[in-house]
Amino acid sequence: MKNILVSGGAGFIGSHLCTRLINEGHHVICLDNLFTGAEANIEHLKSNSLFEFVHHDVEFPYHTETLDEIYNLACPASPIHYQYDAIKTIKTSVLGAINMLGLAKKTNAKILQASTSEIYGDPVVHPQVESYWGNVNPIGIRSCYDEGKRCSETLFMDYHRQNNIRIKIIRIFNTYGPRMLPNDGRVVSNFVVQALQDHDITIYGTGDQTRSFQYVDDLIEGMVRMMNTEDEFIGPVNLGNPNEFSILELAEKVIQLTGSKSKLVFKPLPHDDPKQRQPDITLANEKLNWKPSIELEDGLKRIVEYFKEYRK
Ligand code: NAD
Ligand code: UDP
Repeated sequence: MKNILVSGGAGFIGSHLCTRLINEGHHVICLDNLFTGAEANIEHLKSNSLFEFVHHDVEFPYHTETLDEIYNLACPASPIHYQYDAIKTIKTSVLGAINMLGLAKKTNAKILQASTSEIYGDPVVHPQVESYWGNVNPIGIRSCYDEGKRCSETLFMDYHRQNNIRIKIIRIFNTYGPRMLPNDGRVVSNFVVQALQDHDITIYGTGDQTRSFQYVDDLIEGMVRMMNTEDEFIGPVNLGNPNEFSILELAEKVIQLTGSKSKLVFKPLPHDDPKQRQPDITLANEKLNWKPSIELEDGLKRIVEYFKEYRK
């Protein structure tokens, strides 16, 4: 049994990770300020004596005596949420990383950073390989998230080089699944919720921009495998599903699966919205023996069922 801390553990991805770790018999401390997380996401874990929820903001230091592993996920991830208070988003990424790395140093824990494909910005190299340095606007409306995450990666590398902290960096590509908030603002949850209510489906721009969508269970498997690799392998490593779709294709699939009467409406494209995104997962395949197993149609069916129940 390990002592594991998950920051952002009450969020969409964090709650699936906590569940997995508890099911493996570990003791889990879930640290979250509930900004975009919800107690409902961890309700099923609260009666378990191995699980501990701590209402805490990672902008401030957190102390505990013994830890084996830290997963650092605390950070709003949907553009509407991370742009709501951009300064807070940067503080969460940068001060959160410093505080969690400090805790790793004190407890000698291994620490994994939930980084992002946004590191690559609006990429001119396609698909994105880990060696690509990216194309990020440092002064735009997405910068609080992108640059915050880039700075976190730098901090992880410097703590590793300077203090011998055992680190792991994963770059997560667009991930969806149950426990996304209905008002999360990200494209999969928006389209499914709109389709189930026969509301207009909001396409930003022409809908020709692409994303590659990963189901949450595949991500969790990759994350845990990454944490368990030998100390020499620190990443960064891409975790995503390489099957790439345009936003219009996604809308059509959601309409077809739900039998919805929704119409497509076209809204302005937000500034700096990346035109294309697709992970190269050769490294994850080699080092973690990992590749995603749940394709878009299957995953969409599961999130459709989730949101059908959610509305009851
Ligand atoms: P989410 O918004 O559901 O989860 C983020 C969690 O962090 C929430 O529970 C929130 O309350 C918590 N949090 C935010 N600020 C905090 C703070 N200052 N102190 C403590 N807790 C705080 O989003 P998610 O999709 O589950 O994302 C989890 C992590 O994975 C994030 O770091 C995100 O950047 C990363 N990521 C997600 C995706 C994706 O597609 N879902 C893609 C790339 C990276
Ligand atoms: N998008 C859209 N309609 C929506 C929400 C998002 O067309 O209701 C588009 C958005 O402009 C982007 C893509 O879908 O091109 C993915 O957006 P999301 O916010 O899910 O993730 P990110 O842009 O961070 O990859």
